[in-house]
Amino acid sequence: MFEQLGLIGCGLMGGSFALAMKRAGLVKRVVGYSKSPSTTERARQMGVIDVEAPSALLAVSGADIVLLAVPVSATEATFKAIRHLVTPSMLVMDVGSTKRDVVDAARRVLRENVGSFVPAHPIAGKEVSGVEHADADLYLGKQVILTPIERTQVGHLKRAQDAWEALGCNVLQMAPEAHDAAFAAVSHLPHLIAFALMHGIVNQGSGKEFLALAGPGFRDFTRIAASDPKMWRDVLIANRHELIEQAKIFQRSLHNMLQFAEDSGGEKLEAMIEQASQARAGWRMGKK
Ligand code: NAP
Repeated sequence: MFEQLGLIGCGLMGGSFALAMKRAGLVKRVVGYSKSPSTTERARQMGVIDVEAPSALLAVSGADIVLLAVPVSATEATFKAIRHLVTPSMLVMDVGSTKRDVVDAARRVLRENVGSFVPAHPIAGKEVSGVEHADADLYLGKQVILTPIERTQVGHLKRAQDAWEALGCNVLQMAPEAHDAAFAAVSHLPHLIAFALMHGIVNQGSGKEFLALAGPGFRDFTRIAASDPKMWRDVLIANRHELIEQAKIFQRSLHNMLQFAEDSGGEKLEAMIEQASQARAGWRMGKK
């Protein structure tokens, strides 16, 4: 399907994409670039990429498909680094966890070639980062959200959808703004709360003793608190407006529940728990 993938950011997400594309026979050659030459070298040693590029621009040279798998804060600089070699026939995608900032950067930098860019967010990942954890199965059976804009070329959108589907993904399309609002609620705020909860526990006198007593509920609730600090710093800042809106809604629920507990308002507290419990019991990943 593709001749050459130009991979910028040979970490967990980018490395997994390259491995999956190669395994599926969707690409003949992968040319990769990462900020640290040692990462790029490791990616080649692991067979994630075939050729090391000394710059983002040279990773794009000769590619018919390009994937940006860098932190969202590095997206605009990466577009600037490659823009002279982006052509109308090249499919350019990203995997960033936020979409509005990425799309704005693409509009500003790629200008007349912005139609080549198909913004993508695979709902897949791990708490660990780095090419060592790249996994050809990472995207299998997962959702991928494409957030095309009015200038996205229809042909590229179709090719992007076909490529992700060929990797075993279920592909959805939505507007970048709708994406960021939804993921503030179901991903960014939950991560923030998990980080804040862990932070609060470890910064109290008996925190270590409390943690030693914690069981499976705590393990499940805090799994995402072990996520990569730099990546999450970027995501929380990039989507701060939607995050703050969701945090206000959460604060209202938290305030009410605490108030009912304080006032021994058992019925009202139970009603809130009942609604939450039913909603969670009826929830299935990827189903409306
Ligand atoms: P990662 O494993 O840390 O990989 C990021 C890679 O980007 C690293 O190889 C890093 O190189 C490279 N990089 C950083 N700045 C760069 C720059 N300016 N130019 C070129 N390369 C650069 O992180 P990841 O988990 O794959 O995350 C990548 C993207 O996927 C992020 O935008 C994130 O929002 C998105 N995402 C992540 C998950 C997840 O669960 N991890 C899920 C969905 C989406 P060095 O090794 O040299 O530092």
